[in-house]
Amino acid sequence: METLLKCPICSSTNLESVMQIPDHFLTNEIFSISKCLQCGFLFTNPKPLKTDIPKYYQSEDYLSHKLKKLNILSTVYYFARNYSLSKKHSIITKQKTTGSILDIGSGTSEFLSYMKKRGWEAVGIEPLEYPREFAKQKYSLDIYPDFDFDNKNDTTFDVITLWHVLEHVEDLNLYMQKISKLLKNDGLLVIALPNHESWDAKKFGTFWAAWDVPRHLYHFSQTTFHLLLKKYNFDLISTVPLKMDSYYISFLSQKYKSGSSSFFKTIIKGFLSNRDAKKSENNYSSLIYLSKKKKSI
Ligand SMILES: [Zn+2]
Repeated sequence: METLLKCPICSSTNLESVMQIPDHFLTNEIFSISKCLQCGFLFTNPKPLKTDIPKYYQSEDYLSHKLKKLNILSTVYYFARNYSLSKKHSIITKQKTTGSILDIGSGTSEFLSYMKKRGWEAVGIEPLEYPREFAKQKYSLDIYPDFDFDNKNDTTFDVITLWHVLEHVEDLNLYMQKISKLLKNDGLLVIALPNHESWDAKKFGTFWAAWDVPRHLYHFSQTTFHLLLKKYNFDLISTVPLKMDSYYISFLSQKYKSGSSSFFKTIIKGFLSNRDAKKSENNYSSLIYLSKKKKSI
C-alpha cells in the first residue's frame, strides 16, 4: 500500500481520514478515504501499489470468458451503465460536428465503433489486452495499450472522452497532463464520473456502489472536479446527468447492503435519486462534464 501525504488536486498536506469502506465487489478488504481539508477532495488512501492493482480487477481470463459467453448481457450492461451510444454521440455533436476522437479506457470499443461509422476518426486507449484485440479485430479500430502513440507524438484530437475511467487511473495528474497535450486548442474534453454528493451516495453511505474501493482511487463532487479542470486550464461548458446510473448504482448498492436487490426497490431508489438531483444543484449519481481548453494567450 502507498500512503499519499498530499492532496492530488491542491497539494495540501492537511488531510483527514473520513471513511472506512469495504471492497463489496471483490475482496471485502477495508479501505480508507482521505479528505483534503483545504479543497475538500476525497481519495482512497492508502492506495494499492501498482503491482497489486490487477488483483482488485477480475482476471483477464475471467473477463474474456465473460465477454465471449455473455455478449448480449454485456451489451445490455453497456447500454444501462453508460447511457445509449446515440445519447453520447448527440452530446458530443452538439459541440463538435465531426473530427478526430480519442476514447481513453475504450474497453471493447462499441462507442468508438459507433463514432467511426458516423465519420469520426476514432482512436482508443485500452490497457487490457483482450478488449483491445477484440476491438481491433471486430471494428478495425486503432487501439493502443497506453499513451505511447509510437511515431505519432504530435497527434492531437478534436475530442477526448473518458467514460467512468478517470476515477480509476493510477496517476491523476499525469493523465490530465497527457490529456491536455493530446487535445487540440479548441478541443472538447468529455469526462463521466460518479458524484458522491448524490442522493443515492448519501442514502447508501458506505454501501454506495460507486465508492468501489480500491478500484476507484478518486471520488469527485462537482466542486472538486471543477478545481481539477481549473488546475489544467479547462473551462467547464456544461454538465449532463447520466440518469441511468442512478438505477444501476442503486441496484448494486442495495445488493451490497442487504444481499439482494429487487427490481422494484431499484426503480424507486433510482427514481428518487434523479428527482432529488433535479432539486439539489444537479447532484445526479453520475455526471458528464464537458469542458474546453482555455485559449492560450
Ligand atoms: Zn486539496
